[in-house]
Amino acid sequence: VEIIASPAQMQRWSDDARRRGETIAFVPTMGFLHEGHLTLMREGRARTTRLASSLFVNPTQFGPNEDFSHYPRNFDGDCALMRTVPVDVLFAPEPEAMFPAGSQTWVEATEVTRGLCGDHRPGHFRGVTTVVAKLFNIVKPHIALFGEKDFQQLRAIQRMVSDLNFDLEIVPVAIVREPDGLAMSSRNAYLTPEERERALALNRALRAAGECLKRGKRTAAQLAAAARSVLERTPGVEIEYVEAMDAETLKPIDRLERPVVVAIAARVGKTRLIDNVVLSPGLTS
Ligand code: AMP
Repeated sequence: VEIIASPAQMQRWSDDARRRGETIAFVPTMGFLHEGHLTLMREGRARTTRLASSLFVNPTQFGPNEDFSHYPRNFDGDCALMRTVPVDVLFAPEPEAMFPAGSQTWVEATEVTRGLCGDHRPGHFRGVTTVVAKLFNIVKPHIALFGEKDFQQLRAIQRMVSDLNFDLEIVPVAIVREPDGLAMSSRNAYLTPEERERALALNRALRAAGECLKRGKRTAAQLAAAARSVLERTPGVEIEYVEAMDAETLKPIDRLERPVVVAIAARVGKTRLIDNVVLSPGLTS
């Protein structure tokens, strides 16, 4: 894996690759890689001739009381995992290279970042869309892959790409789970064994919403209530939100006439976890 820290050098790498007629897939990450990240990378590898990734723990997407300073890091381990894919080039800038003194331009998708995580993490999505816009201009990919695990992030980035005419394709990738159903996340490393057990309630709650649809319930509120009741019955799980929204717009929806995303954020101990499932009317699972 070739490691590049400078934005200008990364742009040159991509310009050279494009001039040779290569196609570039891009997977941005905050590191501490797991099978979820690697699935995005393998998918990118299969679709283009060059695969770029980035490792940047973006300070602008963390709130003042969030876990920026102790976000898990393992640069050497991440490089070893990228080699298995293999990733061709890793862009790993210092924060000062991405946000030099004097930076003052922000990219913000407005409506789609209201509700859900947007209500609980002020400024978070503005930090995400801004850094991703910068990464797109630096890495210049033909396609970029994002996990459905961060569903509102995916929708915000799709909105940004469409609204600002970015010349690339966003490829969504389904959530990768542990065998017992827990959605993979770098933050799972924070969980004690007991907390990890409790964290399974998120996936159980989403499955309860799916069962509810199968039994013929037809409103978003009914699906959300089914998920909520599972979480409420699990001690040590503190709900931040449980919502069933229009899966395209992330706006409230009543009757299930279109696909709906049931999304959860909850705290297990000090760790904030998110998970979601997209359910379609007429779908039985
Ligand atoms: P992160 O390093 O947490 O910023 O994640 C980098 C990318 O990996 C994002 O597009 C995430 O949505 C994606 N990702 C993280 N966890 C998973 C997972 N369990 N399944 C699928 N994609 C994931």
